[in-house]
Amino acid sequence: LWQRCLVRLEDELPSQQYTMWIRPLQAAVAQEGAELVLFAPNRFIVDWVRDKYLERISELFAELQDGPVPTLTLRVGAARAATPTPAPAAPAPVATAAPVVAAPGQQFASPAAKETGPVAKHRHNLNTSFLFENFVEGKSNRMAAAAAQQVAENPGTHGYNPLLLYGGVGLGKTHLMHAVGNSMLKRNPNAKVVYLHSERFVADMISALRNKTINEFKRFYRSLDALLIDDIQFFAGKEQSQEEFFHTFNALLENGQQIILTCDKFPKEIDGLEERLKSRFGWGLSQPMEPPDLETRVAILKKKAEESRIELPNDAAFFIAQRIRSNVRELEGALKRVIAHVRFTGAALDVALVKEALRDLLAIQARQVSVDNIQRTVAEYYKIKIADLLSPRRSRSVARPRQIAMALSKELTSHSLPEIGDAFGGRDHTTVLHACRKVKELREGSTEIEEDYQNLLRSLTS
Ligand code: ADP
Ligand code: MG
Repeated sequence: LWQRCLVRLEDELPSQQYTMWIRPLQAAVAQEGAELVLFAPNRFIVDWVRDKYLERISELFAELQDGPVPTLTLRVGAARAATPTPAPAAPAPVATAAPVVAAPGQQFASPAAKETGPVAKHRHNLNTSFLFENFVEGKSNRMAAAAAQQVAENPGTHGYNPLLLYGGVGLGKTHLMHAVGNSMLKRNPNAKVVYLHSERFVADMISALRNKTINEFKRFYRSLDALLIDDIQFFAGKEQSQEEFFHTFNALLENGQQIILTCDKFPKEIDGLEERLKSRFGWGLSQPMEPPDLETRVAILKKKAEESRIELPNDAAFFIAQRIRSNVRELEGALKRVIAHVRFTGAALDVALVKEALRDLLAIQARQVSVDNIQRTVAEYYKIKIADLLSPRRSRSVARPRQIAMALSKELTSHSLPEIGDAFGGRDHTTVLHACRKVKELREGSTEIEEDYQNLLRSLTS
């Protein structure tokens, strides 16, 4: 009976709790069918188990036992010395790592018993290819990656629980989240780590309510060492799910079980999310993830090419990275097309091949960003009039933005230098060329201008 009970407890409890409180217990039958004694190595464990787990153990006994349920007694001591009389409080044996009652190969360790538990259902839902090792760090994600590493090493640490990663699509939130889970499992293969999308949580909860298995549902989530919920913005407007999640959330936090969440925006900005949840989400650490800068985009391309065993020359990597800016997913998509093109044609991977492989993509981009659009965006950014950009005025306050707008037009559209000159009040193509060179120089010499330029690029291309 105790062995069957252990199988269930192992399933239901976070592995840390199980190892710490349940494993050291040794069972001995005091009176066949009438009394079972659980020996614990010390008084502290006895008290703790009585407080936290005894009720559940009794429930399980009642559930698992066909005949009369034996009464349960908790004592300090070791099972070997088990007699109907209490074991002397003398030297308490140190908790052994291995359960004494369940011999290896018995039901306790039976894989069949595990497969049927609710945990087995979710155990393999981590994507094993999302790792810290293949996550490229840069300015835009370094803080988030560091926080994730910290959580992987010390799950449940106060101040890092919950860990919330937020930011736009394709920036690596899901990747980092899985990386934490994979790393936790590597450190502790028994850890119960569950990843799921918030929509899945909602769907599971609804079916648990319908099938009247909500208690099992609750117990399952409360049994985890770490719960990873992706895209919590989908909780918006789903009141009942929020309610259930709120309770699960609190139960886990109270016991120091780790929670990791991702969201496409800062949770305070989600409409339809309860205030108490918003404030709870902020209890731990919230880390933004930003679109990667050029250098990081190049590093990501290089890394992914290497993983595909493709030699990607620097100029080709820069060419792609300069044009695909919005997020890593699109960057990956572009690289996949390039690689497919290389494999298909057998041609050498160079800038010409990249242009060919990404032709439609670049054409769409060029069409999307018009010179008009650039002029409007730049004027707004520098708080000047569009007419100023087109006018002959040469004062610095308009000449600089004008040069930047010209350089952006050259970079983002497929218009020729004379066409761009025309669009800026009929200027000569050499003026445009000069502007492009000047802006390049300014960007290299001033972080402020580089930042302006990047901001403008981002708002024009995202
Ligand atoms: P999000 O969840 O933020 O929408 P994902 O984690 O799904 O984004 O990332 C999209 C794709 O980009 C995934 O294939 C992921 O592996 C990859 N990716 C994102 N950031 C990085 C990075 N810094 N290094 C390597 N790959 C990355
Ligand atoms: Mg995601």
